Amino acid sequence: MTQTINECPVCANELDWDGSYLCRQCDKHYQKKADCPDCGAELEKLQACGAANYFCNSCNELKSKSRLQFYFVAQG
Ligand SMILES: [Zn+2]
Ligand SMILES: [Zn+2]
Repeated sequence: MTQTINECPVCANELDWDGSYLCRQCDKHYQKKADCPDCGAELEKLQACGAANYFCNSCNELKSKSRLQFYFVAQG
C-alpha cells in the first residue's frame, strides 16, 4: 500500500486540512479535483454517507476512485 500524500502543486509542501486543503507555506487553499480517465472531463464529487464518489457527467457514470489521478487547483 502506498500512502497518498496531498502535496501543494506550487511548493510541494504537504497540505493541511481545515475544511479544505491548505498550504501553510503558500497561505492558499486548494481544491482536490480529478478528471475522467475515459473522456477527460472534470469529475463531479458526490458526497454520500461519508464516502466520496466521483461522477462523470459526460460518460454519465460513476468512476472508480482507484483509476483516478487527483490534482490540486488553487481556490479563489
Ligand atoms: Zn504551497
Ligand atoms: Zn467521462
